[in-house]
Amino acid sequence: MDILKRIDKGYILVEKAKSKASEISNDIHLIELEKKINRLKEKEACMRSRIDFERNKLMEKENQLADLDKRLLNIVEEIYETEITDKDKLEVLKKMESEMKSQREEIQNLILEDFTKIDRYINDLNLFKYRYNTFEERVSKIRIANYEKIIYLDEKIKSMEKKIRKLRKMAEPELLKMYDRKREVCKIVFSKIEDKTCSLCKSEVPEPILLNACDSKKIVECGNCKRILFMEETLKYDDNPFQ
Ligand SMILES: [Zn+2]
Repeated sequence: MDILKRIDKGYILVEKAKSKASEISNDIHLIELEKKINRLKEKEACMRSRIDFERNKLMEKENQLADLDKRLLNIVEEIYETEITDKDKLEVLKKMESEMKSQREEIQNLILEDFTKIDRYINDLNLFKYRYNTFEERVSKIRIANYEKIIYLDEKIKSMEKKIRKLRKMAEPELLKMYDRKREVCKIVFSKIEDKTCSLCKSEVPEPILLNACDSKKIVECGNCKRILFMEETLKYDDNPFQ
């Protein structure tokens, strides 16, 4: 029975490792953190498009200013470099010059406001990026640690499966067949006798079976759940079936 118990222990360890690996790959905490990263990325995109929007507005104003400067230059040239005899015309041109100058000042003020606003938005973005990077770094560490744990568990599983194959080759085919059938039907094949009862289904174990169970070479089943019964003291291996 020992060899079957060792094979069984191997399967139990493989299952435990597989469930641990799946638990890690479905780490709810990490999934939530990844969602937060996505939300932060969206926020960053919003902040960047806000800056782009303001920069476009600023560019429009700069074009307006350049255009105005060109027109103003023409008027100034006309007023001061040509001799205008028509007084009314001169009046109109001077009025235009003064209007354009105040318009120019207005645009310049707006441009200054835009610059201040863009500076503020860029500062906000930099601060946000700094916080985001710190957070991303933390999440990345968790991601890498989980990945390494999964790799480690996968390697363990492979090596355990290899050892199980070796043990199966050493086992008697008939016993192995019986073990596999039981494993398929009840999943848990072995049940410890505790206080003269089957620890899994709690049914009482009759005296003759109890005596046979003391002999590790004999295979005895629980009359009720059909699992293979064993006594703690009959076990001749430690927790690691592969040593
Ligand atoms: Zn039982």
